[in-house]
Amino acid sequence: MITKTLKKRLKRKQGMLDNVMRQFDNAAEIIDLNPNIRKILEVTNNELVVHFPVRMDNGEVEVFKGYRVQHNNALGPYKGGLRYHPTVDIDAAKALAMWMTWKTSLAGLPYGGAKGGIQLDPFKYSQAELERITRRFTYALGDNIGPELDIPAPDVNTNAQTMAWILDTFMSTKAPAERSKNMHVVTGKPIGAGGSYGRDRATGYGVFLSIKFWAEHKKVYLKDKKFIVQGFGNVGYWAAHFLEKAGASLVAVQDAYGSIANDNGIGVEALFEYVQGNKNGIVGFADTMPIDNSEFFALDCDICIPAALGNQITAENAPKVKAYLIAEGANGPTDVEAEKVLLENGVEIIPDILCNSGGVIGSYFEWLQNRNGEIWQLEEVMEKLEKKLRTSFDKVREISNERKVDMRTAAFIIAIERLEQAYKQRGIFP
Ligand code: NAD
Repeated sequence: MITKTLKKRLKRKQGMLDNVMRQFDNAAEIIDLNPNIRKILEVTNNELVVHFPVRMDNGEVEVFKGYRVQHNNALGPYKGGLRYHPTVDIDAAKALAMWMTWKTSLAGLPYGGAKGGIQLDPFKYSQAELERITRRFTYALGDNIGPELDIPAPDVNTNAQTMAWILDTFMSTKAPAERSKNMHVVTGKPIGAGGSYGRDRATGYGVFLSIKFWAEHKKVYLKDKKFIVQGFGNVGYWAAHFLEKAGASLVAVQDAYGSIANDNGIGVEALFEYVQGNKNGIVGFADTMPIDNSEFFALDCDICIPAALGNQITAENAPKVKAYLIAEGANGPTDVEAEKVLLENGVEIIPDILCNSGGVIGSYFEWLQNRNGEIWQLEEVMEKLEKKLRTSFDKVREISNERKVDMRTAAFIIAIERLEQAYKQRGIFP
């Protein structure tokens, strides 16, 4: 049944927020979600926009705009990344915060969903400027974040170093006796600053595991399968690293600077080394051919891993997709219209809230270790991650079979039903 709200949304411009709302509506209709709970989940609990001044290296002051959106915390503290990118705005933060709520719920974690960031191009600033921007942003967020309230993590253009600056700034604003209690205010920290072994690779490893579970289920061998990756950052690199180790072959990559291809294979580690010292990303890597960005998703391959930004696979390029599996490393890379085309064409999609959930599961492990004063070894983290992700994957497959729905719809159903149950059991205050 198409409700009035759904009709209205269908008319709206396609954006990430529109996509996540349509994905939510679709699952809510199927499970006949309690209308009162639907009203709660459709909106974001808190939306914070901050403006803060920072002194630049040349002595001038620049004012930045930062965001933190907290969608829902029925299951536990808000959790989600911070992104530094020119496309960060309130709608993007709202959409990404909602996806986090569904992701943490699906993964069975005691968390809600949040997201935020700063609208800027980080490549225009020196390292010292980025440090001052990050520290001042943290100060502006103040006690709106906290280890038991809202726990940020890395996302596009932020990393372990960014998290260390946030941690240090946040702790420095607390009384000395309180400082070490705040170690888990952020996850994705460097090992020396309270980070967890394995958190660096957790998202990409999770993408790889999702593909592996899917392949096991379909009786497909990963050896010699060709895959392409959009985005060669934290998620794209680690996903490619593990897939290559499983015998698959990377045949094309796209990043913010361009696209390259080699049908005979691109060495993942060599490309990684190359990117570290190259200001034009992957462009110019030896033995690869530059290709037009618009042709990227049309390349011949078995598996496609979008691991960059949202809304990359659209109704325009979806009909040309050759891969039979899309594993969504990024959040929201496939828009709703594209998904219809892909499913009609028999392309399967491992949805973002499942496929990239290894990141937030790894973050949860870091948070637990900080909270309990423990340090787990790498093997332990990876084993626990695999177990948790397999549970989610199997549940999604089971619901997908039972209800005869695609994997995204199944994942949303599981996530929303868990939240519905929490609200039903707790009631609405007062
Ligand atoms: P990153 O900053 O490490 O890497 C981003 C990559 O995308 C870079 O290679 C960049 O060049 C590329 N890119 C940027 N704009 C592009 C464009 N227009 N076209 C093609 N490539 C482009 O970021 P990341 O942490 O790897 O995150 C990538 C995606 O994965 C994001 O959607 C993020 O929300 C999602 N994600 C990240 C994590 C995590 O733990 N880092 C967890 C879950 C989901």
